[in-house]
Amino acid sequence: MMALHKKRKTIIAGNWKMNKTIKESVEFVTKLKNLASTVSQCEIIVCPPFTVLYPVAQIIVGTNIHLGAQDTFWEQKGAYTGEVSPVMLCEIGCEYVILGHSERRQYFSETNEMVNRKMQAALSAGLTPIVCVGETLDERERNKTFDVVERQVRECLRGLDEVSADKIIIAYEPVWAIGTGKNATPEQAQEVQSFIRKLYSEMYSEEAASRVPILYGGSINPDNISSLIRQPDIDGGLVGGASLDIEAFVKIIRSCCD
Ligand code: PEP
Repeated sequence: MMALHKKRKTIIAGNWKMNKTIKESVEFVTKLKNLASTVSQCEIIVCPPFTVLYPVAQIIVGTNIHLGAQDTFWEQKGAYTGEVSPVMLCEIGCEYVILGHSERRQYFSETNEMVNRKMQAALSAGLTPIVCVGETLDERERNKTFDVVERQVRECLRGLDEVSADKIIIAYEPVWAIGTGKNATPEQAQEVQSFIRKLYSEMYSEEAASRVPILYGGSINPDNISSLIRQPDIDGGLVGGASLDIEAFVKIIRSCCD
């Protein structure tokens, strides 16, 4: 069921996190490119770990599957041991990069300011950043969801002009829904995502707000995706666990894109 009323193209992105060897990745994307070859209504993105970006890029080149990384650094080169730069990601065929995922914020102390620097660097290299925002359970229970999300959006996007505002994707990922099996209800996700779109129109313009893709992420699976994607401000999904399983991922794609 395609969300035909939407002006924006539906995007389904798989965040593999720290999973899959080269062999497993090659098998997965070989199956995916065959099973999803007829999908034209959606942008399909896979975001594997750094070590398999290159072999995956070789398999999906020229297909309707696009490549993203899960993080990048804010400099293009230099003495930054262990980091990978946006130009390096572009060189091997990445078009997208996930930034500010809650696991990076939680385990690697990433701040909105760091996400902002990474976003600027990604944009100047020609990558499309997928900027993740979302509240913790504690913040939701204290009725802080809108404050937290507004702050994340404003600080992560600081200095972004209206032209560049057209080149990013936002992913609303409530932290309590990530990897927990407890997705936000379609109404909860819609409420925050329409708030983000309204905020975008205050920060930029109504036109920019009507164009920015806003994805939902958090325990998406083949059973809950259809009701989520029907919401007017949910333009697709950032899928973690279910994107590792070929059958589940293809079902999710088919529910949104056929
Ligand atoms: C994610 O990591 O971006 C995510 C949404 O994970 P999951 O689908 O497993 O909750």
